[in-house]
Amino acid sequence: MPTINDTHRISTTDLDTPPRLLLGPGPSNAHPRVLRALSNRQVGHLDPAFLDIMGEVQELLRYAWQTDNQVTIPVSGTGSAAMEAAVVNTVEAGDSVVIGVNGYFGERLVDMASRYGADVHRLEKAWGGVFSLDELAEAVERHRPRVLMLVHAETSTGARQPLEGVGELCRANDCLLLIDTVTSLGGVPLFLDEWLVDAAYSGTQKCLSCPPGLGPLTLGPRALERLEARRSKVPNWYLDVSAVVKYWGKERTYHHTAPINMNYGLREALRLVAEEGLEARWERHARNAQMFWDGLADMGLSCHVDAEHRLTSLTTVCVPDGVDSGAVARELLARYNIEIAGGLGELKGKVWRVGLMGFNSRPENVRLLLAALAEVL
Ligand SMILES: *Cc1c(COP(=O)(O)O)cnc(C)c1O
Repeated sequence: MPTINDTHRISTTDLDTPPRLLLGPGPSNAHPRVLRALSNRQVGHLDPAFLDIMGEVQELLRYAWQTDNQVTIPVSGTGSAAMEAAVVNTVEAGDSVVIGVNGYFGERLVDMASRYGADVHRLEKAWGGVFSLDELAEAVERHRPRVLMLVHAETSTGARQPLEGVGELCRANDCLLLIDTVTSLGGVPLFLDEWLVDAAYSGTQKCLSCPPGLGPLTLGPRALERLEARRSKVPNWYLDVSAVVKYWGKERTYHHTAPINMNYGLREALRLVAEEGLEARWERHARNAQMFWDGLADMGLSCHVDAEHRLTSLTTVCVPDGVDSGAVARELLARYNIEIAGGLGELKGKVWRVGLMGFNSRPENVRLLLAALAEVL
């Protein structure tokens, strides 16, 4: 036997994580009930008990999204996996696609759609802005896309893209409407069916207050028709929904092993959404965001996004002249165990990103952050 190399055999202590308050762009703190649900004993991933859990997760996701879509499932992976699943199942190489790029995640959609061979047309806007229905109509008429992709809640900018009328525009032009709801699901009003959205995805660690690890995905009838009529196979084995639905649908045949305990966690997170009720939950996010914005104004600080299009789940706060945004964030973490984030891309060094998401959207967190921020500044 060769000699065993012990170089990597480090000795470590019991895990003891610092008590952080996660008020950045995500992850946000999981609800204590979700953390408890995660540690439930395991069952097999084809156990009748787990099949019941899968059914409940799907039904509660439909409630949270306000959709009747049959295919509504948590993809095994983070929000980006669900994003990739949404893209790869709706786009074929050579398809014309229009993507709204007004922040970091629009850019990621461009990257993904391009990798799968789409003919991508970027519709650009300064970071923090949103697209008007006229601008979207002009782009759809000019590029005749098969899919229009928009980010409903741009976590990099704090802007909320209005969706009223966009679905009608897409239907009239034989185009699918695909939206990113990672930072809106469970926090910001969403009416997928009412808005005629054909495909949407999300993540668990933002307004749902569950740790990262699953990516909710929903595909409506028009998206499924597209999938059935494809000329080529979905060029990604793991994320091919036509195969995954055999596991999540009636057949329950093995595709991959679902992360069992993550699904316990998501079930509890969605149960919390249902208990509170969507309307109350959206109002709570709006109330606490308003309290935060008022407190900022009292301190002489302003928000990057105009009030009408500001997300209630994520605020971009303008960094005053002469202030080092990174140093402030580091001080908040070191002195108060509060995590916030700086800006990305166009907004680097110009804003702080503050998330008040799900369980974390509470008045005491707003007060704590405002007081800590005042002291550090
Ligand atoms: C966080 C986020 C994602 C990516 O999700 P991950 O879980 O980090 O993979 C995608 N879109 C938006 C708008 C996000 O905020």
